[in-house]
Amino acid sequence: MALIVQKYGGSSVATAERIRAVAQRIARRKSEGHEVVAVVSAMGNTTDELIALAHQINDHPEEREMDVLLSTGEIVSSTLVAMALHALGFEAVSLTGAQAGLRTDAFHTRARILAIEPERVRRELSQGRIVIVAGFQGITEDLDVTTLGRGASDLTAVALAAALGARCERYTDVDGVYTADPRIEPNARKLNDITDDEMLELASKGSKILQARSVEIAAVYNVPLLVASSFNEEPGTLIHGGIDMEQFNRVRGIAHDLDVAKVTVRGVPDQPGIAAAVFEPLAEHHLSVDVIVQNASSEGLTDLTFTVSKADLDRAVPIIEGVAKRIHAAEVTADDKVGKVSIVGTGIQSAPGFASRMFRCLSDAGINIEMISTSEIRITCIVREDKVADAVRALHKAFELEKAEPAELAS
Ligand code: ADP
Ligand code: ASP
Ligand code: MG
Repeated sequence: MALIVQKYGGSSVATAERIRAVAQRIARRKSEGHEVVAVVSAMGNTTDELIALAHQINDHPEEREMDVLLSTGEIVSSTLVAMALHALGFEAVSLTGAQAGLRTDAFHTRARILAIEPERVRRELSQGRIVIVAGFQGITEDLDVTTLGRGASDLTAVALAAALGARCERYTDVDGVYTADPRIEPNARKLNDITDDEMLELASKGSKILQARSVEIAAVYNVPLLVASSFNEEPGTLIHGGIDMEQFNRVRGIAHDLDVAKVTVRGVPDQPGIAAAVFEPLAEHHLSVDVIVQNASSEGLTDLTFTVSKADLDRAVPIIEGVAKRIHAAEVTADDKVGKVSIVGTGIQSAPGFASRMFRCLSDAGINIEMISTSEIRITCIVREDKVADAVRALHKAFELEKAEPAELAS
């Protein structure tokens, strides 16, 4: 008997019929003799709809109220899944994030988990119940409801699995992690397994299939993580901590992200402490910055460009304008029509040729590169937003990702 934390995303619980199907999957695991905790997302596009509704009421809704509002989406689906299990004759109980013991800091809409106190979850399990947890939410010391950032039901599931010493199964509308988003590249191929380093790079560079923090937590706490379909019985993709000799020096996948905006500070005096002066206030406001490029200086002045998520742009610009005034920079410009495309694979940076092949491929496709950033296992280019899909398809072809990998050919 194992303890399993499952997670069902919004598409998996979008309708009453889908909720009944999810309940059946959960029930099957329970009948096999396992203890099951299922974390659920809000039904379909509920979170987007609630955000739109709030903005019809108030252009700048308070984040505390937003969190209470958005948390209701997950609460609705958790109760319905519990009811569907009752209808099948199983004992189940729904719990909010607070009841499940997810304690967070008070940074509303982007709270971080401080601790998980899963006593209630354990008690319910020990009484033979299936526990359905509303994902995406937690509670502060002052008992205020928080949410953990978009897509963070994945994080709820992995963090709960870590706290309970369980394994984690993340069910969604695709049957695993593909070489690229199958909605953009129809030739994308499912990977049987992927290392957590590679998965983390893909997730943090935009692959919606897993939320980035959840991959990080799974890696740190050694939580076995499987991504599979809630619609069929295909085997899925295993995310593991090893390195894969067979796949070394290959591009494993392509991530893209349309949720990118670019901020440029021009005419920055080139002195020690300037980068800190720009980025410290952003960090203080919990705004994360991704790709950063500083130009070589000329006549003591330089330009600094960085990217943030589109949603953060309106908050970042006034902060940076304030900084620009203080440090006597010439001007601040913002551009929200950019996107990001990344190739990821263990060892690609140490092997020559991957970067030049990527740049050649984009150039042949007539796509201009505006910024470049790399890690040991990733190369990212910032391009025009409307070129991102073309870039994904061109790179998928150039790196022959539609072809089976050596390990698959051998098996
Ligand atoms: P859920 O509702 O289960 O949270 P999401 O819509 O957040 O599901 O994530 C699943 C979607 O992620 C898929 O439908 C797919 O379009 C997208 N996706 C992006 N990159 C990948 C990838 N590399 N492999 C598989 N799916 C991907
Ligand atoms: N419902 C939340 C969102 O749409 C959390 C999630 O689905 O993981 O972002
Ligand atoms: Mg999701």
